[in-house]
Amino acid sequence: MGEFDVIAKYFYRAPKKALLGGGDDCALIQPTLGMTQCISSDMLVEGRHFLSTVDPYRLGKKALAVNLSDLAACGATPQAFTLALSLSGLDSNWLESFSNGIWDMAQEYEIDLIGGDTTKGPLTICITVLGEVPNGQALLRSGAKVGDDIYVSGTVGDAKFALEVFRGFAGAGEKTFERIRARLEQPTPRTQLGLALRGTANACIDVSDGLVGDLGHILRRSAVGAILNTDWVESSSAISQDLAALDFSTRLGYAMSGGDDYELLFTSSKSARPRVQEVSRAVQVPLTRIGEITKGLGLRVMDLEGQQMIKSFSSFDHFVS
Ligand code: ADP
Ligand code: MG
Repeated sequence: MGEFDVIAKYFYRAPKKALLGGGDDCALIQPTLGMTQCISSDMLVEGRHFLSTVDPYRLGKKALAVNLSDLAACGATPQAFTLALSLSGLDSNWLESFSNGIWDMAQEYEIDLIGGDTTKGPLTICITVLGEVPNGQALLRSGAKVGDDIYVSGTVGDAKFALEVFRGFAGAGEKTFERIRARLEQPTPRTQLGLALRGTANACIDVSDGLVGDLGHILRRSAVGAILNTDWVESSSAISQDLAALDFSTRLGYAMSGGDDYELLFTSSKSARPRVQEVSRAVQVPLTRIGEITKGLGLRVMDLEGQQMIKSFSSFDHFVS
């Protein structure tokens, strides 16, 4: 089995949206009139983003999911993606499971695989996604306004909890571990939520490196500050039953700076509160209000008594240890 057999067998299917998929020098996409294209890349490296023991099917799904999450954060409809793969060898069982994960995710989110590159080397997966959004409607990090509410979707901190269990720094019962592990290994891109937030959210980002750090990106790009409450960490729809079973300070750390949640963090004006509730019901994803955008720069985290916390919450950075 050579490179081209691998591509033909595992990584080619006729595209549904693109004019031309893999097999030629370039894939062809016809941009839709009135739409802007959104493009994003994410790389997953063995030993850094995933453990060598991870199930290849789950890995395939996650590799595409984290890219779809970026499109969701822009409010974009998924269109197409490329897959650049560096493989240490050709293991047909691995390729079969991995590509099935890719295809299942691609089918569910209606996105075409339109090409890529395949080479030998340390296991690395690089995906570039393309999506589209009506002109002028992309959700950006830079749109937060003073007085906006800050919301987070789904639950946060579970993936970090799972990672701590894997590393041996935390313990969890069998049922809990199953659930939090699924959150780490099989994140759900919030595609429908992103689409529904167009016209309602002023700024949006997906939580991949940790809530506080990712909120920081919105604040810097929007040149605003924020107050982040912590009462929602005590009890709210953003805290899973598994996290709720941990002591408050552990839970706080996981929720505030654990990464890999792939939830959407967004801001919207107070007058949009009823609309946000509608969106939540329509897409069936809980949305929790966790703070407010302020005029002064910087982020203030408030404790349960409403006092500013001194503790700082780090977020994930590949070049800072
Ligand atoms: P070129 O040498 O022109 O760059 P390649 O030999 O790298 O082309 O790839 C041949 C075709 O297979 C191209 O259309 C490319 O997009 C596609 N392809 C290569 N690797 C992958 C992959 N991992 N997944 C999907 N398509 C791929
Ligand atoms: Mg090539």
